[in-house]
Amino acid sequence: MSKKEDRYQQLVENLTDAIYTVDSNTLHFTSLNSAGERMTGFSRDEFIKKNVSEIILPEYLPLVKKMISRKRNEALTTVYEVEMIRKDGRRIPIEVSSVALYENNKPHEFLGIARDITERKIIEKQREVFLSLITHEIKNPLTSAILFVDLLQKKLKKDKKSLEYLHQLSSSMASINKLLTDMLDITQMRIGRFQINKSSLDLNEAISDVIKTFGNSPNIKIEGKVTKNLLVDKSRICQVIMNLLSNALKYSPKDKSIVITLTEKEKKVIVSVQDFGPGILQTDQKQIFDLFYRSIDASQSETKGHGLGLFICKEIIKQHKGKLWVKSTPPSGSTFYFSLPI
Ligand code: ADP
Repeated sequence: MSKKEDRYQQLVENLTDAIYTVDSNTLHFTSLNSAGERMTGFSRDEFIKKNVSEIILPEYLPLVKKMISRKRNEALTTVYEVEMIRKDGRRIPIEVSSVALYENNKPHEFLGIARDITERKIIEKQREVFLSLITHEIKNPLTSAILFVDLLQKKLKKDKKSLEYLHQLSSSMASINKLLTDMLDITQMRIGRFQINKSSLDLNEAISDVIKTFGNSPNIKIEGKVTKNLLVDKSRICQVIMNLLSNALKYSPKDKSIVITLTEKEKKVIVSVQDFGPGILQTDQKQIFDLFYRSIDASQSETKGHGLGLFICKEIIKQHKGKLWVKSTPPSGSTFYFSLPI
């Protein structure tokens, strides 16, 4: 070994992150440094007989394989988080950055650097739990304040000015309440406490009930019917319909109509909510389901929003083993679809 190689070897051995190489064809490990031995609990000899699928938890394997096949075509370093199984059976979250090593212009190995992120994950979880608690604590007094405003409105029926102030107070409180409810849902999802309670639901009835909550004015048409009841979480599915409808109303001109269509197809129900507003650009269509994402048009317009609703809807539908997607060709409106198994 040359002096330079020796220096690199020493450097690799003294790092606190695990460094390893993987054969790009067989996905067997081919080397590991000392930090890797400490992180995995395996000796170097034990480790290099193992395959990636024996070390990474099965649910993360599709992601790892996707990253590996991407790297065969790109020379970029990719960073992603997965969980690994130590020799003693303990699971630990790790952050992996890896890059392809080439020989004769072909990737023959992958070099990976893995960092134990257990502490970071604990802190992240504590932060989410804390946020969830705070949100809950604000929500309770707010709910009772909403109730008292409602009572006052009924009592002050003839005092026009007071009624107007109360109306404004009521709508401000309703938007804080909606924001808190959404934040609570998201924190529950992140800490794995978001639950769905299934019971039998007549979707036709549920949609009519949701439409009634918007009052008499909106021009909403329903086309089609579902013939079978679904086994779903009623309030969560209503939340999705409510969200799609309020977006359709919010983002399209007041005089335009909205069409809800119900179809049954191969053990699936497909619900679509079509509006005739400005539509959504192709580049925004994928991202609008991401947390906090709002299209430039939406964020520059008067319409208020936080980019939480569609993220929550997607998660609710995913938990029901369904799908949520959008089709839109601006400027002729958007159609949001969701499917649910029958
Ligand atoms: P919010 O409406 O509070 O911003 P959402 O998560 O419900 O949050 O929606 C995310 C973004 O998707 C919106 O900010 C808007 O840019 C876009 N969007 C959603 N529904 C529609 C629609 N019917 N027409 C046009 N844009 C929409």
